[in-house]
Amino acid sequence: MTLIKSINPYSGELLAEFHPLTGKEIEEKLSAGSVALSMWKETDFAKRAELMNNAARVLKDNRDKYARIISLEMGKVLKESLAEVDKCAWVCEYYAERAADFLKAEPIELPDSKKAKVIHQPLGIILAVMPWNFPFWQVFRFAAPTLMAGNVGLLKHASNVPQCSLAIEEVFTLAGFPAGTFQSLLIDSKTTTKLIEDDRIKAVTLTGSEKAGASIAAAAGKQIKKSLLELGGSDPFIVLKDANIKKAAETAVKSRMLNFGQSCIAAKRFIIEEDVYEEFLALFVEHFRNLKQGDPMDEDSDFACMARADLAEELYKQVDKSIKAGATLLYGGEKSEEGSALFQPAILADIPTTAPAYYEELFGPVATIFKVKNQEDAIALANDSEFGLGASIWSEDKEKAEHLASQIESGAVFINSMVASNPHLPFGGVKKSGFGRELSRYGILEFVNSKTVYLG
Ligand code: NAP
Repeated sequence: MTLIKSINPYSGELLAEFHPLTGKEIEEKLSAGSVALSMWKETDFAKRAELMNNAARVLKDNRDKYARIISLEMGKVLKESLAEVDKCAWVCEYYAERAADFLKAEPIELPDSKKAKVIHQPLGIILAVMPWNFPFWQVFRFAAPTLMAGNVGLLKHASNVPQCSLAIEEVFTLAGFPAGTFQSLLIDSKTTTKLIEDDRIKAVTLTGSEKAGASIAAAAGKQIKKSLLELGGSDPFIVLKDANIKKAAETAVKSRMLNFGQSCIAAKRFIIEEDVYEEFLALFVEHFRNLKQGDPMDEDSDFACMARADLAEELYKQVDKSIKAGATLLYGGEKSEEGSALFQPAILADIPTTAPAYYEELFGPVATIFKVKNQEDAIALANDSEFGLGASIWSEDKEKAEHLASQIESGAVFINSMVASNPHLPFGGVKKSGFGRELSRYGILEFVNSKTVYLG
């Protein structure tokens, strides 16, 4: 049996090991989930909100402890982990305050003066398969709306963050949620796919790679169960000649380098109108250079390392293959030691369409820069991707930017700002970035039965 290991990617130290759950233990969790569901779905919104606000409080009270677990297990710098814990508290409070309103019955007036209404009811046990990159946030943005809607949750977290997985279960326990309402399952991905066959699981959500998404959605489809997929992205960041170049360059680096580039909505392809290309590039490289690498626990560090050594190796291969295909390395990109999660950030330009950097997602600190003649070419290049998660457009002409936003194939477009998730805004992708929406009212409606009641 392969143990689930918690490893500090910065130091390589083994922090803890866990036995994956046995079949019997998984069965116990499913039974506990079913028992919890029968009570939880009948619990009123006021009680659910009280407990969800408690969860926010537990997060705030233990902010430092949880942030340290995040940084230790996946290597992001502590200041980013602290911000992540804060954001989780925010999403709990957001849904605690609004869920009842979001899910209230909706009357429908019919033309024949008859009436109907739509009521929103929980689906049951929802399985969440989650990634390591924002190991708390990805889970809370699922759990807060899903539990507030009266469902119960089972979490299969990424194998490299078992301590985060257990810590999240602890948050809900300390908040006073009934036993079984939210449980963490330490299991491998094969067992996860099999679990979807169990009748007690009513739907599944996955945040992760295309490969995992395809496998989970296929397993769910086979059982006629709903799935929601939040997959990869290769977000364009378009800078037009009438943009505020200084602000655009500063934000561009922030967007690419947040979480050491391991973010689905990081800007990955920088598409710059030729008149301002040199000016933008000079500022962009300067900001890149100014970032400081160091220990994740050190306050001064802007970045530390990637979440696992194999991820650094994979990213390096994508860069290397792209250079061999004809791309120009403008900055960084030196190979780290074998088996190390360290990575030197890189900037690539002159990227041919045959290079991995053109058509694959670069899930780490590598920026790709493209020069285009005009805004039409910028949009065409932005849309020349299998992905469609987010996009950012920079122009001082707001009307023009809004018009161009409508032409971009993505789930979100941010004008003069970097793409960011926010409880108030629907979040999700099109194309190979997945389907369904999280956050806002759209997010809570994903795992409910919106039932029509005709009042004859
Ligand atoms: P990943 O390898 O797909 O893993 C994500 C989760 O899926 C993990 O829990 C993993 O478990 C599980 N998994 C992997 N293969 C599976 C399979 N065949 N069947 C069932 N479960 C499986 O992705 P990652 O490397 O953790 O995350 C990076 C990817 O996630 C990037 O593409 C990124 O863009 C995307 N992402 C998207 C969003 C979004 O909101 N759209 C947000 C964050 C990240 P194990 O760890 O046990 O393999």
